[in-house]
Amino acid sequence: MQSPQRPFSFELIAKRGHARAGVIHTPHGPVRTPIFMPVGTLGSVKSLDMADLHELQAEIILANTYHLFLRPGTDLIEQAGGIHKYINWQQPILTDSGGFQVFSLGVQSGQKSGKYNHVRIGADGVSFRAHHNGSSYFFSPERAIEIQRAIGADIIMTFDEAMSDDYSKEQATQSVGRTHQWAKQCFSYWQSQNRLSKYGDYQALFGIIQGGLFPDLRKKSASYISSLDFDGIAIGGETVGYNMAATQELMDWIRSLLPDHKPIYTMGLGRDPQDVIDATLAGADMFDCVGPTRLARNGSVYEGQFRMVDGQPAFVSSHKHGRINIGNQKYAHDFSVLNPGCDCYTCQSGYTRAYLHHLYCTRELSYYRLASIHNLRTMLRITDKLRKWITAHDETKQKTSAKTKK
Ligand SMILES: [Zn+2]
Repeated sequence: MQSPQRPFSFELIAKRGHARAGVIHTPHGPVRTPIFMPVGTLGSVKSLDMADLHELQAEIILANTYHLFLRPGTDLIEQAGGIHKYINWQQPILTDSGGFQVFSLGVQSGQKSGKYNHVRIGADGVSFRAHHNGSSYFFSPERAIEIQRAIGADIIMTFDEAMSDDYSKEQATQSVGRTHQWAKQCFSYWQSQNRLSKYGDYQALFGIIQGGLFPDLRKKSASYISSLDFDGIAIGGETVGYNMAATQELMDWIRSLLPDHKPIYTMGLGRDPQDVIDATLAGADMFDCVGPTRLARNGSVYEGQFRMVDGQPAFVSSHKHGRINIGNQKYAHDFSVLNPGCDCYTCQSGYTRAYLHHLYCTRELSYYRLASIHNLRTMLRITDKLRKWITAHDETKQKTSAKTKK
């Protein structure tokens, strides 16, 4: 079958070490990489509206298939004409497949299945009960793609088994086998639908590499997922983003197996500014995490500067994890901004730590917005600075000019 025209591509602009700068072209516009993607679980980045997201220069946002499927439901999103129209965001959107939430949020559905004893895993899919009302549902690979076609994001994901890092080798092997079988089914179903959303737009499908902390399984998974004609490659698993040392090691195992011409997405990574820097240096292009907004809501705001340390980019801060706790009494009389040098709306317009401390302690609603803007813009500014750092010293061009000199 001839592939339809693909209005999705990854243009590699520059490379520096393993770090890459590029542009992802989608039907709803370009995304410059490396990029941090704010998470809009229910079609909304918590406490922010679309004007805020434009202001902080978000280029792509994430929405969760599992949550949107349950509420408001795909019928309603279809009536609205798709997710872009429904949520009033005309730039690129990525949806996950729902796999991770089915495993992590679903509630007891009878038969036990290892750590995730609330779901029933079969070769054909997963039965689960919804976290908010206990209703029963079944997701198969084809169903996960069909739901994502109805939501209508620019980038969609294969349905995978969110395996736990405490799986035995035998359990992990079985799990990876199921993830590969489901990836193939998702791929075939996507092809059969001409790779189009229900609204006629091209939808890029990314495959997901699993394998836990077993090097041979990770390599096997990287080879298999890279062998299919997906538009991008994602790296999933419990470790990714939560244990950065293990995440970097994992990238070392599989990097040589990953295609150069596809974007690499480390799923759920980006809790701390340094995490995004480390993952970019390890060769990843796309990141998402609920961390920045969740931390903001809990009083934890980023403080520090993007600097060069021994020739490598780093987020330099005198505080642990590069964050301050705005609820701390010592900020009650601190009339400086959250992070001097920050270009976010909150810092630039002069909101002080003292005032934000007061808003946080009194649970005033404006606090959540102002702190979320600051934390998200910090992540987006870092990916912006990384992009500039990579393009300022492009090894691909240097190689070309070296060849020309010969
Ligand atoms: Zn700021």
